[in-house]
Amino acid sequence: MIKLDDKLKGIQTVGISGHVRPDGDCVGSTLAVYNYISTYYPNITVDLYLESIPNVFGFLKNADKIHHSFEEDKQFDLFIVLDCGDAGRLGPTAKYFEAAKQTFCIDHHVSNQAFADDNYIYPDASSTCELVYELLDTDKITKEIAECLYTGMVHDTGVFQYSCTSAKTMNIAGNLMEKGINYSKIVDDTFYTKTYNQNRILGQALLDSKLYLNGKVIATYVTAEQMKEFGCGPKHLDGIVNQLRVTKDVVVAAFLYENEDASYKVSLRANGDFNVADVVAVFGGGGHVKAAGCTMEGTVEDILERLIVEIAKRL
Ligand code: 5GP
Ligand code: MN
Repeated sequence: MIKLDDKLKGIQTVGISGHVRPDGDCVGSTLAVYNYISTYYPNITVDLYLESIPNVFGFLKNADKIHHSFEEDKQFDLFIVLDCGDAGRLGPTAKYFEAAKQTFCIDHHVSNQAFADDNYIYPDASSTCELVYELLDTDKITKEIAECLYTGMVHDTGVFQYSCTSAKTMNIAGNLMEKGINYSKIVDDTFYTKTYNQNRILGQALLDSKLYLNGKVIATYVTAEQMKEFGCGPKHLDGIVNQLRVTKDVVVAAFLYENEDASYKVSLRANGDFNVADVVAVFGGGGHVKAAGCTMEGTVEDILERLIVEIAKRL
C-alpha cells in the first residue's frame, strides 16, 4: 500500500486543497496532511488553500495558516487534493492543480472519476480522514493531527451513526482517542453546538417544510433574504438537512438555500436503500449514495418539482 511518506520523496513544494464550501471532513483531512508535512518535513514548503472555513474548526492546529486568497500564481512539485469528487469542485484552487508537476487525489466520493495523476479513492470509506489515517505513519500521528482526523470522521459519519460507519472506522477512531484528544469536546463544540441564530434559522426552515409523495419526501429552503434576516451565511446551515432526514417515514430529505447568483444549492439525504447520488447526477451534482448535492437554477417551486419527478421515478 502506498504511504504519504513515499509520495514525498524528492519533493520540495507541496500545495494542498479540498472542495469549495469546505466541511469538517475537508478541513480536517487537509489540515491533517498539512500538519504531518510541516511537522516531519521541515525542508518541504507546504501551502494549504481553502475557501473560508466554519469558525468551529478554528481550534485545529494551523487553521490560521490556511490561505483564503488565491491571487498568487504558483507551480507546486506536488498538489494534493482531498475530499473533492471532481475537478469542478476545486473552485479557485483549480489553477494550482492544473499547473502542478504532479497531482494526487485522496477521496471517498462515489462520483469521483479519478481526475488526478495519482488517486487514492475508496467510496466505502466513511470519510477522507479515514483514508488519510491509512496513508500516514500511525506512530507519527500527533495529538494535533489526531484532532484533525477525528473531527473529519465525526462530521462525515454524523458522530459515527450513518451507514458509512464501519468497524474499521470505529477502530481508527479508537486509535485516535488513544492519542489523547478531547473527543467529547470535539463532538460537542464542532458538531452539536449551534449559535442562537443558527437554531432560529433551523426553526424557520422546519416551520416552512412540506411533505411530498405521501410523506416519503420532505423539503424546505432558506432564501438569501432570510439568511440576512437571521444573520447567517451558507456555512451556518449545516445540520438542517439532517434534521429533516429524521422525520418519521421520510425516505428523502431535500434542503435548498439560495446562492448569491440566485441559483440554489441543493442538499439531499436518503434513508434506507434510496440512492440520492443518482438523483443529483441528473442535475450535474455528485456525492454519496445517502448524502449528495448539486446546484440548480430556477425558482424554489420549479427546482422542487424537477427534483420530485426524479425522486418519484426511483421510489
Ligand atoms: P452537502 O449536501 O452536505 O453539501 O453535500 C453532501 C455530499 O455531496 C458531500 O460529500 C459533497 O461533497 C457532495 N456534493 C454536494 N454538492 C455537490 C455538487 O454540487 N457537486 C458534487 N460533485 N458534489 C456535491
Ligand atoms: Mn468527506
